[in-house]
Amino acid sequence: MENNFFGISSRISELGEAAMEKALPFINEVDKITEYNQLKMLSAFRNNRVSESCFTASTGYGYGDRGRDVLDSIYAEVFDTEDALVRHSFASGTHTLTVALFGVLRPGDTMVSVTGIPYDTLQGVIGLGSASNGSLREFGIKYEQVDLLPDGTVDYEGIRKQVRPDTKMVYIQRSRGYSLRPTLLNEDIKKIYELAKELAPGCIVMLDNCYGEYVEMTSPGKCCDLMAGSLIKNPGGGIAPTGGYIAGRHDLVEACSYRLTTPGTGKEIGCTLGQNRELFMGTFNAPHVTGEALKTAIFASALFDSLGFKVTPGFDEPRGDIIQAILLENEERLISFCQGIQAASPIDSFVTPEPWDMPGYDSKVIMAAGAFTLGSSIELSADAPLREPYAVWMQGGLNFHSGKAAVLLAAEKMKEFI
Ligand SMILES: *Cc1c(COP(=O)(O)O)cnc(C)c1O
Repeated sequence: MENNFFGISSRISELGEAAMEKALPFINEVDKITEYNQLKMLSAFRNNRVSESCFTASTGYGYGDRGRDVLDSIYAEVFDTEDALVRHSFASGTHTLTVALFGVLRPGDTMVSVTGIPYDTLQGVIGLGSASNGSLREFGIKYEQVDLLPDGTVDYEGIRKQVRPDTKMVYIQRSRGYSLRPTLLNEDIKKIYELAKELAPGCIVMLDNCYGEYVEMTSPGKCCDLMAGSLIKNPGGGIAPTGGYIAGRHDLVEACSYRLTTPGTGKEIGCTLGQNRELFMGTFNAPHVTGEALKTAIFASALFDSLGFKVTPGFDEPRGDIIQAILLENEERLISFCQGIQAASPIDSFVTPEPWDMPGYDSKVIMAAGAFTLGSSIELSADAPLREPYAVWMQGGLNFHSGKAAVLLAAEKMKEFI
């Protein structure tokens, strides 16, 4: 059956078919990971006896909200951690990571970021730049950093030099964020964890796990003490409308809960206002949806590789997150690419994204996002600052069929520039 709803030319369509053939073995690998993680999830739902009563909306203090407690327990089980704190009231990934940092660090402590400078929005939290905004620095928490090596990999020798027996926190960011460094795999995180514990046995190894959930068959839960992420990325399955999670060692999760609410009440309070059903449903779907996003990324990588562009990761490379970077080399292509992604989005397909001076960036940025949830990046989205090396970062895709169509339309829109 002819399914050319979007006017894809025969050239792009043929390249698409060839790319699909190249990508297929790797897409099949994704299916194996997805199946494992999905069954682990189903098993956690069974073990925690999820029932409709978990969806009851609590109000006020939220004492005894069974759904809230069961969801925490499911996260702990699928992430291989002792405990978890999953709340719709985490306003963003940055908020969640901030609660975790303030929850466990105390004045005089030193945190060492061992994967270079953290994600943009965390820099203000740490107090790089202005310190007078309630940052960690203003509360007397010291920050040190081990840069990545020039090729973007972890500098283990540098870690040896920087981490001392009294280092309180070793901080790891898994995902590349909007850089071109490789994303860490769980085996890399394990190596850092073991080294950190050798150098500072009492330290807290904390992981920014954004975009990394359910991408691999293993969870990093056993090779960090604390991790956090956003529910409008992988773990919310495209259904959670907001929220975040913290998971890890029981004593540390408890300390975070005291920061989220109050010392003493911690996890015991916090009403769920009817959000539980969507949080459960999104959580349940998350391994599958993450797989769909991965397939979309692999297909994009294969197609743009065959169009002659540098892609990272390559379609045949192992992945630690759902992000695909494509070096499009000039402005016209970036704009056309983002406009193509937007045009094949379920929401706002008729909108034409334009570059704009986004606050906090030193160059114009163009973004494509046609999502059910504002800012959701488990839904297909693409971002590109208009500067060297003219790379676009693409992520998400609720289902591979529509993700693949969007990637083809992006290539089609770029056609006159390639
Ligand atoms: C998205 C992200 C964050 C922050 O999440 P927001 O929801 O944007 O605040 C932090 N770290 C990494 C690596 C991310 O990808």
